Amino acid sequence: MKKLFAVLGYPIGHSMSPIMLNDVLSYYEIDAHYHPFKVSPDELETAIRGLKAIGISGFNVTIPHKSAIIPFLDGVDDLALSIGAVNTVVNDNGKFIGYNTDGYGFIKGLNPYISSFSDKKVLVIGAGGAARAIYFTMAKMKPFALDITNRTVTKAEELIEACPFETRSKALSLEDAANHLNEYDVVIQTTMIGMYPNISETPISLRNLNPQSLVCDIIYNPLDTKFLIEARQKGATVQNGVEMFVYQGALAFEKWTGIFPDVKRMRENVLRFLEA
Ligand code: NAP
Repeated sequence: MKKLFAVLGYPIGHSMSPIMLNDVLSYYEIDAHYHPFKVSPDELETAIRGLKAIGISGFNVTIPHKSAIIPFLDGVDDLALSIGAVNTVVNDNGKFIGYNTDGYGFIKGLNPYISSFSDKKVLVIGAGGAARAIYFTMAKMKPFALDITNRTVTKAEELIEACPFETRSKALSLEDAANHLNEYDVVIQTTMIGMYPNISETPISLRNLNPQSLVCDIIYNPLDTKFLIEARQKGATVQNGVEMFVYQGALAFEKWTGIFPDVKRMRENVLRFLEA
């Protein structure tokens, strides 16, 4: 029987996951379909029960359900539980188990540049949901230092406090971070500053950027944010949000099928969609 996979969100029309994942399902000749479902927050519990009743094989959840879904699952892995957000659910013999592949997806995207974080000073800009997944997962990689800067510094402090993994971390104001930017090997921009339509904005000044650093922006619309353009002009290596998106999807696909898919194919598909 044809299997069903899905993504639940509200809204959901913008999601690129169906394009990316239906393509790899057919590429690996898996008799399955991946469908986007628009589910309002009020209907989430009912939707989860319905998906269980029909025996869905697995699904993703996106905004605004990543945290709200947790009470409706049968189990949540430790990392997702500490992050407090699930983006991937596996149907394990009738039990819905939640995972978070966002943080590992981001880190896997850095593999071409970084094999070990033990000597790396990392700065995360932002302290929202995406920052939390990246910060907690990065903490498990044991970087030399893992600092956070955020407009609201208390939120950065709360994130550091909440992290169950031992790290050497400081919470910085945006101005302090800009002043000390030359100390960082990796700078990760996780806010929505610079996202379409506000493409002329950047979260912090790059005047002190280390030209040897790797600068990431998890935004993918536009592909080149002003932040990345300025970082490239300073000589830094840059990476946009397509890698995180592709790898979080690849890790979800692997959890459902046991196959780690062809990420080059997935990336090309996503880029074709975004460039169109
Ligand atoms: P969120 O939880 O709402 O967090 C927003 C963050 O942006 C907070 O740190 C907030 O600071 C900061 N911020 C908002 N407006 C600001 C402003 N005017 N000036 C300075 N800082 C500001 O959002 P999220 O879910 O983490 O998503 C953030 C971005 O990540 C979005 O662009 C999203 O598309 C992208 N994303 C990409 C991927 C991917 O796969 N590539 C995955 C997930 C998310 P305060 O705490 O001070 O409010």
